[in-house]
Amino acid sequence: MSDRDEKSLSQETADNLPVNFIQNIISEDLMMGKNNGRVHTRFPPEPNGYLHIGHAKSICLNFGLAAANGGLCNLRFDDTNPSKEETEYVESIKEDVRWLGFDWEDRLYYASDYFDRLYEFACQLIKKGKAYVCDLSAQEIKEYRGTLTEPGRESPYRNRSVEENLELFERMKNGEFPDGSRVLRAKIDMASPNLNMRDPVIYRIQHAHHHRTGDKWCIYPMYDFAHPLSDALEGITHSICTLEFADHRPLYDWFIENVDYGKEIYGRPQQIEFARLNLTYTVMSKRKLRLLVEKGIVRGWDDPRMPTIAGLRRRGYTPEAIRDFCERIGVAKRNSTVDIALLEHCIREDLNLRAPRVMAVLRPLKVVITNYPEGQVEWLTTENNVEQPEMGTREIPFSREIYIEQEDFMEDPPKKYFRLRPGGEVRLKSAYIIKCEEVIKDDQGNIVELHCTYDPDSKTGGPNAGRKVKGTLHWVSAAHALPAEVRLYDNLFLKENPDDEEEGTDFTEFLNPNSLEVLTDCLVEPSLKDAPVESRYQFLRQGYFVVDPDSTSERLVFNRIVGLRDTWAKIQSREG
Ligand code: ATP
Ligand code: MG
Repeated sequence: MSDRDEKSLSQETADNLPVNFIQNIISEDLMMGKNNGRVHTRFPPEPNGYLHIGHAKSICLNFGLAAANGGLCNLRFDDTNPSKEETEYVESIKEDVRWLGFDWEDRLYYASDYFDRLYEFACQLIKKGKAYVCDLSAQEIKEYRGTLTEPGRESPYRNRSVEENLELFERMKNGEFPDGSRVLRAKIDMASPNLNMRDPVIYRIQHAHHHRTGDKWCIYPMYDFAHPLSDALEGITHSICTLEFADHRPLYDWFIENVDYGKEIYGRPQQIEFARLNLTYTVMSKRKLRLLVEKGIVRGWDDPRMPTIAGLRRRGYTPEAIRDFCERIGVAKRNSTVDIALLEHCIREDLNLRAPRVMAVLRPLKVVITNYPEGQVEWLTTENNVEQPEMGTREIPFSREIYIEQEDFMEDPPKKYFRLRPGGEVRLKSAYIIKCEEVIKDDQGNIVELHCTYDPDSKTGGPNAGRKVKGTLHWVSAAHALPAEVRLYDNLFLKENPDDEEEGTDFTEFLNPNSLEVLTDCLVEPSLKDAPVESRYQFLRQGYFVVDPDSTSERLVFNRIVGLRDTWAKIQSREG
C-alpha cells in the first residue's frame, strides 16, 4: 500500500468519528502536540449504586473518545466516601461496563489506592502555607462562607503556623479527634466570587470502615481534592464530567497547579464538562433508584422497568442498541431531556433485522377446525425473518385445534375490522384460510371457542394459495404449544418529568400503578422449547420479547422489550 492510500484511509476513519465539541478539543490538542500526543480518559463511578443509562452515555464517551484517538481509558472507582460504598456495587459496575462492550484492560483503579499519596499532597499544601486545620463546625463554616452576593469571612484558624497545622493534621490522621471536630481546608480566597474557592474543605474526620482500606484511615479526602489528583496520578489528559462541575473547574485547576505530583511525568489533566442525559418518564439519580429498590417498589436493581444497565439488560436491550442510542443523542453543553421513544426506537432498529420472528398467543382463544382430520399434524414451512431471507426457515406444526388471540375475534365488529368475525375469513400465517362458522359460549355468555372450517387448497403451493383475504393472524397449535408467562411493561412514571417535584410532592407520587402486567396463560410455538435466557424474538404482531432468567424448562418466562409501534419514527416523519 502506498503512503497516499494510507493517508486517505486514516482520513476516512477520521471523517467517520462522531464529531462533538469534545472531539474537537482533542483534535486540536493532538494537532498542537499537547500531552505528547497522548489521549487518556477515565470513567469514574462512585460505587454507591448500579449504573444507569446516563452512565452509559459517559462510558461510551470516555471509552469511545479514547478508542477513536488511539488513546486509553481507565475504570476508576471514586471510593472516597467510606460510609456509602459497597462491594456489590463495584462488581455490578464492572460487569455492566464489560457487557456494554468496553475494556479497561489492566487499568482498573480505585481512588482509595491513592490515599497515601493524597495525604502526602495535603501535607505538601500545609508546608507551602496553602492549607490549614480549621476547628469551626460544619455549620459555622457554612455561615463564614458568605453568599453569591456577600464575600465570606476568614476562619479564626486560618493563620495557624505550618508546624501547628502539620501536627494537628497528623493527629487527625491518628484518630485523636472525634468526627466533625476539625477539617483540613485549602487556603485560597474567602472573597472569591466562586464559592468553591472560598477555602474548601479537603479532608474530614470520619471514623468509618472502608471497603478496601479497612480501618487504616479515619480521615478521608473530599471529592474535589481527590478527583483532580487521581486524574493527575493516572496521567489522564481529558477529564470529562457533567456540567454541574463547571463551577468546580477553577478548584480542579488550583489543586493541579499547587500540588507537586510530578507534572513533568504525568502532565496536566484538563476538565471538560458536557450535559448529562435526562430521559422522559424516568428518574436517573442513584439516590432515587436506590429508594425504589429499598422500598420494594421494584423487584431490584435489575427490574426490567429500571433505567439501570442491569434493568435494561433484563428488559432485553442489547449493548449495540444502547451504544447506538448514546451516539444518536450526541454530546452538548446544555442540559436537555431525551424522549424515551428514541431509546425504544434504537432497540427496534437493532432487533428488526436480527431477531427471529415467531408466533406466540398472549391471550388465547381456542379454535376448532371442524373439517380438519382429527389426529392429523402437518409441519408447515415458515420464514424466520421475512426481511432477512438468509435467516432461513423452520417448520411449525398445524392441527385441528389451534389458538388465536382473543382480540383477533369480534362477534359484532366495527367497519374496517379485518380480523375474524362470524361468517368471515382470515388467513392463518404460513397456513390456511379459515372461516368462522360457529361461536361457542358458556352459560354466562362468554366466548369459549370458535368452530371454523378451512380451505384445504389455500396453503402455500396449493391452488388457492394466492386467494386474498383481508386479515392474517398469528396462531399456535394447541397440542404443540408451550405454556409461557409474559410480562408486559410500561413506563415506571406517569409524569414526563418525575424529577420535577413541586412543593410538598415526592417523585414516588408519580409512579405508574400499571407499569407491570403479568400474563400467565400464554402459549408459544414449540420451536422456543430450549430458548436460552437473554435470547430475543419478535412475536409476530406483538413486539419484541426476551427470555427472562426466571424461565425454567417447564415454564418459559418472557419480558416484552418494546411493542412494534414506533412512536419515535412517527414523530420524525411528521416533523421531517
Ligand atoms: P447520580 O447523580 O445518578 O448519583 P453521579 O454523577 O453521582 O450520578 P457517579 O458514579 O459519580 O454518579 O458518575 C460517574 C460518571 O458518570 C461521572 O463522570 C458522571 O458525570 C457520569 N454521569 C452520571 N450521571 C450521568 C448522566 N445522567 N448523564 C451523563 N453522565 C452521567
Ligand atoms: Mg457522584
